[in-house]
Amino acid sequence: MKDLVIVGAGPAGLSAAIYGMRAGIDLVVIEKLAPGGQVMTTYEVENYPGFVDPVPGWELMSFMENQARRLGAEIVSVELSSLRRDEANNCYEISIAGGEPLRARAVICATGASLQKLGVPGEAEFTGRGVSYCATCDAAFFKGRVTAVVGGGDTALEEALHLTRFASKVYLVHRRDAFRGVKLLQKRVLENGAIEPVYDSIVRSINGSGKVESISLENKKSGAKSDLPVDGVFIFVGYRSNTEYIPAEILNDYGEVMVDMRMRTSIPGLFAAGDLRNESIRQIVAAASDGATAALAAYDYLEGLARA
Ligand SMILES: Cc1cc2nc3c(=O)[nH]c(=O)nc-3n(C[C@H](O)[C@H](O)[C@H](O)COP(=O)(O)OP(=O)(O)OC[C@H]3O[C@@H](n4cnc5c(N)ncnc54)[C@H](O)[C@@H]3O)c2cc1C
Repeated sequence: MKDLVIVGAGPAGLSAAIYGMRAGIDLVVIEKLAPGGQVMTTYEVENYPGFVDPVPGWELMSFMENQARRLGAEIVSVELSSLRRDEANNCYEISIAGGEPLRARAVICATGASLQKLGVPGEAEFTGRGVSYCATCDAAFFKGRVTAVVGGGDTALEEALHLTRFASKVYLVHRRDAFRGVKLLQKRVLENGAIEPVYDSIVRSINGSGKVESISLENKKSGAKSDLPVDGVFIFVGYRSNTEYIPAEILNDYGEVMVDMRMRTSIPGLFAAGDLRNESIRQIVAAASDGATAALAAYDYLEGLARA
């Protein structure tokens, strides 16, 4: 039996591993993909403290992973399929897809969030054939092409700016009359000649034959409908917490895990850190901070068990 299992090796999980190892906790991190989380799909990170110049997302995460490993953290490539509290033994059973279950006295859930889908006709059909959720991964396929980015938050603005390195034109389609992203990004977007904002508009469908050829838009104010010819559509319209395996009684109406300021849920020994929790600002620095807080709270919990 492990003292602690950390589920997810994004910034929250890796930070929890770093703090947990330094506290002397017997822990293991499980990760269904490569360590690094969503940051691996980020071209450059400009707002993580300590880096004067922008750092590529993959590089920042390789530093965090290597730091956790140097401290002795074991990171295992497996996917959690379910989590069950064993009341009789005051511990957790973590079922692993295609493997033996793990047992632990405490668990930190750090499985992050996934980008939301638009849910319009053509989206699923053209995913991978012009529809993408990762400009860092796919922008190079659109060299000299016309693209649309859908969304108005930080991620949409950042990804639109990144796309202009390849695409000849980027329409930035937003349902409101102003973007939500931070002022600095808004300024860069509005000053970039390759980006054309399309305000007050919602995407009704993504159209094409075999690949994306256009998107159908509806203007929310006038009701006017139009078709915009594009070769690719990049969708950044919000996040959904990856909490399907977490007991419903500790989730809020948005499916986020409810925690206190020490990242404790109301279930003993169960903690949550990073993008999946309530009130998260969904940024790397916040996820790393949550991971540290959760690891130290888990340490106190484990000490309490040892004393009991
Ligand atoms: C395109 C994009 C650009 C961004 N740019 C920035 C930026 O410039 N600056 C910034 O601060 N933030 C940025 N963010 C947000 C930032 O990436 C997140 O806030 C941060 O990654 C959250 O960390 P996390 O550890 O909570 O979750 P995640 O990074 O989502 O990591 C969760 C990990 O859990 C794993 N996992 C999920 N389910 C399971 C399971 N069942 N079993 C095992 N493992 C599982 C996942 O594979 C993943 O590795 C960006 C996000 C995106 C998508």
